Amino acid sequence: MKLLVTGGAGFIGSAVIRHIINNTNDEVVNLDKLTYAGNLESLAEVSDSERYTFEQVDICNRAEVDRVLAQHQPDAIMHLAAESHVDRSIDGPAEFIETNIVGTYTLLEATRQYWHALEGNKKTNFRFHHISTDEVYGDLPHPSDVQEEGVKLPSPPAGEGQGERGKAGELPMFTEQTPYAPSSPYSASKASSDHLVRAWHRTYGLPVLLTNCSNNYGPYHFPEKLIPLMILNALEGKPLPVYGKGDQIRDWLYVEDHARALCKVVKEGQVGETYNIGGHNEKQNIEVVHTLCDILQELRPQEKSYRDLITTVTDRPGHDRRYAIDASKIEKELGWAPEETFETGIRKTVQWYLDNLDWCQRVQDGTYQRERLGAAG
Ligand code: NAD
Repeated sequence: MKLLVTGGAGFIGSAVIRHIINNTNDEVVNLDKLTYAGNLESLAEVSDSERYTFEQVDICNRAEVDRVLAQHQPDAIMHLAAESHVDRSIDGPAEFIETNIVGTYTLLEATRQYWHALEGNKKTNFRFHHISTDEVYGDLPHPSDVQEEGVKLPSPPAGEGQGERGKAGELPMFTEQTPYAPSSPYSASKASSDHLVRAWHRTYGLPVLLTNCSNNYGPYHFPEKLIPLMILNALEGKPLPVYGKGDQIRDWLYVEDHARALCKVVKEGQVGETYNIGGHNEKQNIEVVHTLCDILQELRPQEKSYRDLITTVTDRPGHDRRYAIDASKIEKELGWAPEETFETGIRKTVQWYLDNLDWCQRVQDGTYQRERLGAAG
C-alpha cells in the first residue's frame, strides 16, 4: 500500500511512519506543513528509506494538496495534521479553526475529487482515515463527584474478548455512541472535523474511517505537554506546575500502541465506522507527576526529592475532569490491545528523554521555553 500520512512530522504521525517503515513493506508520503510541532528529526531513523517521501505542504492549500494526490496516487490517507494543544487553543483559537476545520474540509474536498476519478480496485479499496481525540466527548463523572457509596473506577477487561466496561457500580466510560460535548476550542475544532468527515461519507460516499483516542505519551512528544514538560523541568530543578488540584483523570496510551492501532484500522476497519482507542490506564495528573519524579529519582538520583519541585498553579479554564475510553470495539472486532502497561511505557518514556535531551533542546529553540500557556481564559 501507499499511504499518505498528514502531520507525519508530529508526535503521533512520526510514530505511525516509523511503525510503517520498520514493520511493513508499505510506502509512505508524509505531508506536513512543519509548524512548531513538526520535526523531521523525529523521522531520522526511517527517512533514508526508499519507501519514504516528504512533502512540505499545508493542508489548507488546495492546489498543493491536489498536486500531492495526483503525483503520489495514495491507496489511503491517514489524516493526523492538526493543531493539538488545548492550552494554545485557549490563547489563540484561530489557528485551530483554520487547520483543524478548514484544513480538514480542504483535504476532504481534494480527496473526494481524487477518489472519484479512481477506477476498479483502487477506488473500491481506497480509505480516508481521520484521526481524532476522546476530547470531543467532553468529560465524564469524576470519582470525587460521586456520593453514592461503592461506585468505583471501571476495572480493566478481564481478558481477551471480555472488555465489558462501565458496568453497574462503576463510573461510565466513552463509547463510540457517547454524544459529542467538546469543552475547549481544540476539542470543538476536532469535533467539527469529525462531523465533516462523517458528512462526506454519508453525502458523497467517501470511504472513511474514524478513530478517537485518549491521551498519548512516549518518545518525541513536544515539551509543552504534561509528561515531557515535567521531565525536563525536573531535570533542570525548575518548578513542576500542576493545574488546580491535579486530580484530573486521563486514560494514558503509549504512542506506539496507538500507531499499531491506527495501522490496523486503516487496513482492516469497516468503512464508515468509528473506533475508540484507549490504554486502560486512568491516572490522575498528580499520580503521573509523582510517578515521573520517582522514576527520575531512581535513574538520576539527587539528594532532594524531585517531588519537592511540585507546585500547584491556577487550573486551565474549562478543564475537563475525567476521560476514560471503552476500547472494547477495536479489541473485539480488530483484535487490537495495548502492549504496554502504564508502568512499562512511562519508564521507557523517561529513559528516552534522558537519552535525547539534545532533541528536546533543538525542538524548543526559538519556539517555546516551557512557559505557561492557556491561563488567561
Ligand atoms: P502534534 O501537534 O505533535 O503534530 C501535528 C503535526 O501536524 C505537526 O507535524 C504539524 O507540523 C502538522 N501540521 C499542523 N498544521 C498543519 C497544516 N495546516 N498542514 C499540514 N500539517 C500541519 O500532534 P499529535 O499529538 O501528533 O496529534 C496528531 C493527531 O492525533 C491530531 O489530529 C490530534 O488531534 C490527534 N490526537 C492526539 C492525541 C494526543 O494525545 N497527542 C490523542 C488523541 C488524538
